[in-house]
Amino acid sequence: LDFQKVDIMPVLMDTFEILEKKAAKKNICFEIVDPKRQIVCETDSFRLQQVIINLVSNAIAYTPPNGKVTVSVSEDKDEVFIKVSDTGIGIDEKEFPRIFERFYRVDKDRSRESGGTGLGLAIVKHILEAHHGKITIDSKLDEGSTFTVIIPRSQGSDRGK
Ligand code: ATP
Ligand code: MG
Repeated sequence: LDFQKVDIMPVLMDTFEILEKKAAKKNICFEIVDPKRQIVCETDSFRLQQVIINLVSNAIAYTPPNGKVTVSVSEDKDEVFIKVSDTGIGIDEKEFPRIFERFYRVDKDRSRESGGTGLGLAIVKHILEAHHGKITIDSKLDEGSTFTVIIPRSQGSDRGK
């Protein structure tokens, strides 16, 4: 990977431009909270963009028309947190561990319409592991989901100091 100190907001805004039409087609309100804020961390920006594209694509795909998809960023001393929330179909808690497996899709009937392959989240997990980061899920069936990406600010020998 190519780790550089990058301001992650422009990466999120690029993702926004790529996916806003897809959201608009379903009349989904797609918002990046506080896009002018500067949050810097050491990341491979191309890979990070892949992570965000996968999560936002899912949020749009698994949210019925007229819903809402929100991306927000926060930070503490050591880590950056990127939250992708939707008002979609949600995921049952018992499925949480499995959705990161390759080719796994929850309830084929519910997700057939969206025609994915079940690889997106496996790729996300792989990229985050390579960043010494992780992803957490909070979701409720028929209410919506929030995926939180957690990445360390620094990848070098000063990591965690
Ligand atoms: P691909 O991303 O390869 O096109 P996919 O979207 O089915 O296909 P993943 O992104 O790995 O694959 O997601 C796995 C499964 O997790 C999905 O099929 C869906 O059942 C569930 N899922 C993922 N994100 C959400 C979400 N935001 N809301 C509800 N279910 C989700
Ligand atoms: Mg997907």
